[in-house]
Amino acid sequence: MYRTHNCGELRIDNIGENIILAGWVQRTRDMGGMTFLDLRDRYGVTQVSFNQEVNANLCMAARKLGREYVVQVEGKVIERESKNQNIDTGAIEIQASKLTVLNASETPPFTIEDETDGGEELRMKYRYLDLRRKPLRNNLELRHRLGFETRRYLDQHRFLEIETPYLIKSTPEGARDFVVPSRMHNGEFYALPQSPQTFKQLLMVSGYDRYFQIVRCFRDEDLRADRQPEFTQIDCEMAFVDQDDVLNTFEGLVRHLFKEVKGIELPEYKIMTYEEAMRLYGSDKPDLRFGMPFVELNEETQNKGFGVFDAADLVVGICAKGAADYTRKQLDKLTDFVRKPQIGAKGLVYCKVNEDGTFKSSVDKFFDQEALASWADKMDAQPGDLILILAGVKEATRKQMNELRLEMGNQLGLRNPNDFAPLWVVDFPLLEWDEESKRFHAMHHPFTSPKKEHLGLLDTDPEKVNANAYDMVINGVELGGGSIRIHDQKIQSKMFDLLGFTKDEAEKQFGFLMGAFKYGAPPHGGIAFGFDRLAAIFGGTDSIRDYIAFPKNNAGRDLMIDSPSTIAPDQLNELGIDVIDSNE
Ligand code: ASP
Repeated sequence: MYRTHNCGELRIDNIGENIILAGWVQRTRDMGGMTFLDLRDRYGVTQVSFNQEVNANLCMAARKLGREYVVQVEGKVIERESKNQNIDTGAIEIQASKLTVLNASETPPFTIEDETDGGEELRMKYRYLDLRRKPLRNNLELRHRLGFETRRYLDQHRFLEIETPYLIKSTPEGARDFVVPSRMHNGEFYALPQSPQTFKQLLMVSGYDRYFQIVRCFRDEDLRADRQPEFTQIDCEMAFVDQDDVLNTFEGLVRHLFKEVKGIELPEYKIMTYEEAMRLYGSDKPDLRFGMPFVELNEETQNKGFGVFDAADLVVGICAKGAADYTRKQLDKLTDFVRKPQIGAKGLVYCKVNEDGTFKSSVDKFFDQEALASWADKMDAQPGDLILILAGVKEATRKQMNELRLEMGNQLGLRNPNDFAPLWVVDFPLLEWDEESKRFHAMHHPFTSPKKEHLGLLDTDPEKVNANAYDMVINGVELGGGSIRIHDQKIQSKMFDLLGFTKDEAEKQFGFLMGAFKYGAPPHGGIAFGFDRLAAIFGGTDSIRDYIAFPKNNAGRDLMIDSPSTIAPDQLNELGIDVIDSNE
């Protein structure tokens, strides 16, 4: 037997027991006649003591152990003289009577401690060592628990977990496909799924009215921070449901996860239309842990002689409660913030509502006290508040104001990671115009159904058509999104038409789905959650990479296995791929 217990479970109650532990050497310390060894495994750390006087040889052997050696220790559980409150096993230690080195280790390239000295790159290269650290272990445990509870909830609600293939052909979710060349069919390619979208819809046609899968998806997108080329979704689909049924079911899932995994009762979900979200928060995923909604001030500010406002499509303000005491320097910093190239505003106008009810603004030249009072009135600003205003082209200004609002939320401490503000954003537009390709793109995906009352607009004003599409948002993060699908072959055909597919192209790419719809497709809809992101939200951090055992770096590389990499000419040959050597 390698071990009787693990390194995290021995307590005062075990005192006097003879036990065997196995694990990794976290560190050893020599203290005169005693040597202490911290032994680590997945479950924790246990202190082992070696007494020079009792067994000099054993003590000598312990001193020779290097960091990360794998050892087995036999001994007796005794009470510790000085207890360590910081660890679960801190009340006891093991008085060693036998030590076996199971394997030696080279000195690791960084310290395997909660706070490590290893830089990001180095830790990615030696991910298997980084994974020994407790913070990462906690993250993977959290991820496991979330997956497990997801399965439990969905199983209780009669969902079946059904696998769908990874070697498929293109599914249009708006990104590029990763492709896999076929050896058996030279010149032909599989595509890796961007999501199992079409398969889950086919399962509905097959009568599996509640499907889910915790599934890997692949999207060849230009990498941004916090994106992974392969990521995991909780992918779900239901038949014979309307939008409310889907929202209720998955609000239930997320509520269940918060309760079981975090012990938190989620507050009620708000529901907001896309139009409202954009108008009031300049974002389709507003952080509702705090208020500070946008107030449009065109009427109050235009035609008063201030050129910047007069020329603007939109003049919009937010009211930062209690921030009238911002200093010149703080206000200058805010101006610098909105002027950063990533944000792109030209400038920032402020107006302080002083405690005595007078106003002080950066545009006093153009606006007298009465004019400023009308802003404060519209914005419901009280003495002590600070009004911040941006102006310009509508869409861009809203985006900039979204950034400023979030920044003010940070500065005023309104974005507590332990508060959760869940929200459904509904009624997304069906289509969005793409200037580059001069065509409509599906805002969600081509299978999303238009609102029934907007069907008539499809021919005349397609840009005005709203969709039965919804996103779940918590604290400004989009956790998931989905839609009620088109199940009528004629509407689906029209949709492909609007998206600029010729009949032939549509048939070639989606003939199978349109074919299936001829054989009794039930009304259906679904949703998919970003599982990595869900874990990150639960863990209270931003980086999804910390919740993936073996992630890629920001450049889409796996530094540990060195991928992507070239393959041998023979292999290429077999695949029928000619390599064009640019040196020739
Ligand atoms: N397939 C969609 C996505 O990956 C989700 C859905 O519509 O169910 O975003």
